[in-house]
Amino acid sequence: MDKEKRTLLLAAPRGFCAGVDRAIQIVERALEKYGSPVYVRHEIVHNRYVVENLEKKGAVFVDELADIPTDVPVIFSAHGVAKSVPEEAEKRNMFYIDATCPLVSKVHREAERHQKDGLEIILIGHRGHPEVIGTMGQLDEGQITLVETVAEAKEFAPKQADKELAYLTQTTLSVDETKEIVAVLQARFPTIQTPKKEDICYATTNRQTAVKALAQRCDGLLVIGAPNSSNSMRLVEVGQKAGCDTVALVQRATDIPWEMLNACRTIGITAGASAPETLVEEVVAAFSKRFDVSLEEIVTNEEQVVFKMPRVLEA
Ligand code: SF4
Repeated sequence: MDKEKRTLLLAAPRGFCAGVDRAIQIVERALEKYGSPVYVRHEIVHNRYVVENLEKKGAVFVDELADIPTDVPVIFSAHGVAKSVPEEAEKRNMFYIDATCPLVSKVHREAERHQKDGLEIILIGHRGHPEVIGTMGQLDEGQITLVETVAEAKEFAPKQADKELAYLTQTTLSVDETKEIVAVLQARFPTIQTPKKEDICYATTNRQTAVKALAQRCDGLLVIGAPNSSNSMRLVEVGQKAGCDTVALVQRATDIPWEMLNACRTIGITAGASAPETLVEEVVAAFSKRFDVSLEEIVTNEEQVVFKMPRVLEA
């Protein structure tokens, strides 16, 4: 029997960003250089497939430094850590390698600079996300106020009326929603300092642009990524807001909601910054098994960003 036809539109860019790629390479090179086990504090990036693969190679993921013996290397995840974490590692005489994405570190340095300049700092971001915990933890408690929504921006009250304000953002937010929050802050505090270079990173911005282009052309959309991956969740929301009613987050092919996609003839596929291309290939293969698939890539941007390895792991 002939298979039904389906068109799959692949977003480009999609999947791994330079920060995720670097973080995974840091764990792999550390395993090569120091042998297993290498400990990693928290998921190196928010993707089970990536974490399980590294576990097979000898990485051990833990929640806290107290869970790690002191004679093995420990790696801090791409999301960044509060200053107290390397301080504790030093107290325990641990050898650590920091896999924080350089674009997250840039936000950390901005926070320090604003504090030095005597500014009151607002961080726009999601409460409880590891990156937000790490950025807030660059300064003493209470030095940074978190603003998560437009409503919170409307209610924000500066601690000292005579202090200038500055805002920073999490790197993986929705570009459009952040603009709304910033607009409220700028209307209320016209002299508020903005980041010199956008804090929402190139990878987040490019993947959201790509998903908007897809959403206009497809009647179903799959975002490959993890529910705890901020940039993947934002891709789901951006796809919905851009006009696609049938959007699902899937971690891999076994999660594809076939019934929900039943009536969809053109399906867009993208992947969050921590989802490897092999999972995209797996999803495409699952469609090819059921349908007569034609594949088209929608390219909205080319990326050539590569970050350097920490010196201790340079080849
Ligand atoms: Fe870095 Fe952006 Fe990737 Fe996060 S999503 S690791 S900030 S490049």
